[in-house]
Amino acid sequence: MIQSLAMMQKRSLVLAVAVLAGGCAATSTEQRIVDDAASALGGRSRILAVKTIVLEGEGTNGNLGQDMTMESTGQAFVVTGYKRTIDFANGRVRTEQTRTPNFAYFQGPAPQKQIAGVADGVAYNVAPNGNATRASNAVAKDRRAEIVHHPLGIVRAALATDAKLANGRTAGSERVVDVTTADGQTFTLAVDGTTSLPTRVVSMTDNTNLGDVAIETSFADYQDVSGLKLPARIATKTDKYPTATLRVTRQTVDGDAGDLSAPAAAASAAPIAAPPPATVTAEELAKGVWLLAGQSHHSVLVEFADHLTLIEAPQNDTRALAVIAKARELRPGKPLTEVVNTHHHFDHSGGVRAAIAEGLTVITHKGNAAFIEQAAGRAHTIVPDALARSPKRVKVVPVDEEKVLADQSMTVALYHVAGCPHADTMLMAYLPRERLLVEVDAYSPGAAVQPYAANLLENIRTRNLRVDRIVPLHGTIASFNDLVKTQGS
Ligand SMILES: [Zn+2]
Repeated sequence: MIQSLAMMQKRSLVLAVAVLAGGCAATSTEQRIVDDAASALGGRSRILAVKTIVLEGEGTNGNLGQDMTMESTGQAFVVTGYKRTIDFANGRVRTEQTRTPNFAYFQGPAPQKQIAGVADGVAYNVAPNGNATRASNAVAKDRRAEIVHHPLGIVRAALATDAKLANGRTAGSERVVDVTTADGQTFTLAVDGTTSLPTRVVSMTDNTNLGDVAIETSFADYQDVSGLKLPARIATKTDKYPTATLRVTRQTVDGDAGDLSAPAAAASAAPIAAPPPATVTAEELAKGVWLLAGQSHHSVLVEFADHLTLIEAPQNDTRALAVIAKARELRPGKPLTEVVNTHHHFDHSGGVRAAIAEGLTVITHKGNAAFIEQAAGRAHTIVPDALARSPKRVKVVPVDEEKVLADQSMTVALYHVAGCPHADTMLMAYLPRERLLVEVDAYSPGAAVQPYAANLLENIRTRNLRVDRIVPLHGTIASFNDLVKTQGS
């Protein structure tokens, strides 16, 4: 009773202040949404008293940007042993989980233990062998934002004296308010129109491939926990793509939170403000054919009579622009006019926008054409990339089952890798005169497991290709016999 009186007094005060400030009715609408959400969750003072929460449960993780096609959602990791500890007062979070792929994963079918967190501005990941590494500043920002993507996190943020509330509105069955925190980040809180319990939190972030994306976390199945109402079902989307579901089986408020500080190896590492500088090596594999390698993702440059063709613009602007610069350095007199994108996976298409900015036409499987066209048109205002700074119209050449690029000096046959269990839209490039096959992910020489190699071998044999060397865009050059040997003797 005392609390509700205090609440009424506070509301009267807010209204009085609003009237004194010029009678801005919108302000009270926004504060009312926040106050109603706080009351629904257990009351302002109860919420502000919470220091930590531990969520335990199980669920799924999606495979954003790595599924069979861009729009597929069939691949998932089954998540068990999930434990997430949030320290609201100190802005720390640590998540442990075990994930098991429900698909032919390139690292094999075994469950993987994952530990990730952020503390004092340092994001970190801990490998199964215990080695901790620092993640980028951008990851740290996203993980700090995740703390606000919880009903207690968003309402605490909205109740902070330095928070700015704006744009209170009704949308369908929800009431919605924008909350801007002291560090300038805006989160949209939606509450149920009837119960006032938070239904969703949305905030924007940058994704290398998709640009400005909304991260949306939705809440359902509220339960009574230590004088609070807390959701037992939590689901997350990036843009329109589902990325995680969680069914909470146990939640502990202000219990044993354990040590949430960043591991020493991560805390003492230098901050990572940008992708590492690109190192591009050039190795001539045959006349007019170069392997552009140096780091994890390679490209191949092919010289035709009057132009150059690049196979793959991977990762990001940094890598792709360095590879393109190297190509132009190798043959400065000839224009680089086009890039072949092997498949849509984000690590292989992350430099395609940079290639478009450099005026290159994109050749890709027809199943990726719409994705490439959409990616080229997406807004990148949060972190402007090369294409955002230098907009160009994209030209996409779709490939169905095969397309031959040929003139008097060079022939490159692009083939769809039919039935590839890694991606439905995979292309490989065959150079018949040089007996070279350029491929990626289907066979990565040296990898411990080769779940897609049998299919690649089948594609080579079905098409009667005479391959001496396999040029993988991950790993080192192998012989055709090396590929055969992956299938046992
Ligand atoms: Zn891939």
